[in-house]
Amino acid sequence: MKSSREERVARNEELFQEVNQEIEKLEERLGRPKTLTILCECGQKHCLEGVEVEPAVYQRVRSNPLLFFVVPGHDDAAVERVLERTEQFLVVEKSGRAAEVVRRAR
Ligand SMILES: [Zn+2]
Repeated sequence: MKSSREERVARNEELFQEVNQEIEKLEERLGRPKTLTILCECGQKHCLEGVEVEPAVYQRVRSNPLLFFVVPGHDDAAVERVLERTEQFLVVEKSGRAAEVVRRAR
């Protein structure tokens, strides 16, 4: 079975979601931080850019599995749409096929 570009992107982003959840847990254990530095959750394989986000915002966005944090400019209009825009990051929502892949993985 060959995997489409959308599926690859979605899987990669999910991996970063998991990494970021670990970062969040770790930071919580060290005391309540003002901002979390998480990794950009875009679909580019080698992107390791940091995104600074307030823990409350992180938790709100993370409660929806279709939402991801990316560095401005790292969004991919083919698989997601931008819901929120700040100087630090964009919140994107998976759409179409990529959203299906995320749903199926849960
Ligand atoms: Zn990125």
